[in-house]
Amino acid sequence: MNCPHCGHTAHRVIDTRDTSDAIRRRRQCEKCGQRFTTYEHVAANLLVIKSDGRREPFDRQKLLSGIQVASTKRPISRETIEHLVDQIVESLQAIGRAEVPSKAIGGMVLDQLAQIDQVAYIRFASVYLNLHDLTEVRSEIDRLMGRMGATTSAE
Ligand SMILES: [Zn+2]
Repeated sequence: MNCPHCGHTAHRVIDTRDTSDAIRRRRQCEKCGQRFTTYEHVAANLLVIKSDGRREPFDRQKLLSGIQVASTKRPISRETIEHLVDQIVESLQAIGRAEVPSKAIGGMVLDQLAQIDQVAYIRFASVYLNLHDLTEVRSEIDRLMGRMGATTSAE
């Protein structure tokens, strides 16, 4: 999208707010410095298929809260979490399907969290993958370690 004042395409988000059916963002143009507001009607018709087969409307706020809970007392900024959720929503919109299994959404979050914070990853996994016991948690940790080994072996 372009700046409504000068048509420039680069701008940054200075504030993000969830309303009941849209995300309202205050943006500032990087060229002329003027501010403007955009509304995104996120995945308004997207249905999430839960593990028991029930459908419920996609809820950005709920996803955000879930990640926030998993990130409690971890060095992850609100901005990082917002960005993560934005990426998930963009991916969901790119898929363009009317219904998405909640596990698929959880998997997208985990892909991102794996690169951000290991503790948040395991916390989120235990809720969203419905890990029932230590064996399942351990196999998830092994999976994460494997992934870490593959991507961040230099650390
Ligand atoms: Zn501008």
